[in-house]
Amino acid sequence: MEGQKDYQVVIAGAGPAGALLARELAAAGISVAVYDIRKQGMLGHNWSDAVEKNALSAAGFKLPSIENGRYKGRLVKTDETDDNLFEPHVMQRLQIRSPDLSCTTRSDVDFRYITTDRKALSRMLAEQAAEAGALFFYNHRADRLIGDTDVIFDKIDVKGMRVTNLDNGESFYVAADVVVDATGYTSGLRTGFVGAPAIGTLFEKGDLAYACRTVRRLDMTHAAGDDLIDHYRYGAFKGYFWTHLHHGDVVDVGGGVREEPGRVDPKIVIEEMIADLSLIHI
Ligand SMILES: Cc1cc2nc3c(=O)[nH]c(=O)nc-3n(C[C@H](O)[C@H](O)[C@H](O)COP(=O)(O)OP(=O)(O)OC[C@H]3O[C@@H](n4cnc5c(N)ncnc54)[C@H](O)[C@@H]3O)c2cc1C
Repeated sequence: MEGQKDYQVVIAGAGPAGALLARELAAAGISVAVYDIRKQGMLGHNWSDAVEKNALSAAGFKLPSIENGRYKGRLVKTDETDDNLFEPHVMQRLQIRSPDLSCTTRSDVDFRYITTDRKALSRMLAEQAAEAGALFFYNHRADRLIGDTDVIFDKIDVKGMRVTNLDNGESFYVAADVVVDATGYTSGLRTGFVGAPAIGTLFEKGDLAYACRTVRRLDMTHAAGDDLIDHYRYGAFKGYFWTHLHHGDVVDVGGGVREEPGRVDPKIVIEEMIADLSLIHI
């Protein structure tokens, strides 16, 4: 199967980085193929993410309009198929917890951000890239880079990558001028290469953070008018905690801590914060 497939660029990973790059390359007339380990329709995450609005508009997305200095539009999605991809949020009170767990509330914060449905965003980016001419192969695992030699990573001339089709177990070589590792945090290709530095040797331990997320129900009767149901707290338990309300009464609850000595399990951050917010139910 060697040399059977040839592209100018081959991308491992159809997340936002891989799909957006594929879209731009294909639109510029460059032949590009994207391989993702997930099955078709399974891209993205089950939650909404806060995304920098300048990044979204730079990527060509139309954002909610602003009227009288405020985003126009609904705050909360009504169901899974709601086309309101970008939800504008305005936070006017922000709870800030110090590491000693004392809590201050800042009023008049007027902090604006946008959350986006990561499944819908991924689907849209992949569709746009495919329309521009990029080829997508799902359920394909990028296994390793192929170079002209197996010497240390920065001295090889990369020729392509080896891929396994998880439908039938077939493994093949994809030749390309450029190989892009867009496999996200796992950085699957780079770290798997013979002689390549493992991710842990490039990052200091304290640069890593652990985050947990859970989806809960919110008591909407009592939550009405409470702007703390959709909020972000920094400094809690030497980490951070957030809630995003989406899909009716579904609330996305998360907590994260940096990987440093003495930091607690992020699950504990979530448990304690939920105990603090009695409106959130299992
Ligand atoms: C709990 C949590 C909360 C987050 N919250 C936010 C947030 O609020 N805002 C924000 O901007 N970011 C957030 N992020 C970070 C977010 O994941 C990144 O911003 C974004 O997903 C990075 O995009 P990416 O394309 O680089 O990688 P990913 O989205 O991780 O995409 C990588 C793709 O590569 C595929 N893949 C992996 N390995 C292989 C392989 N071997 N072969 C083929 N395909 C492979 C995966 O299936 C996936 O589709 C959060 C992350 C986590 C874990």
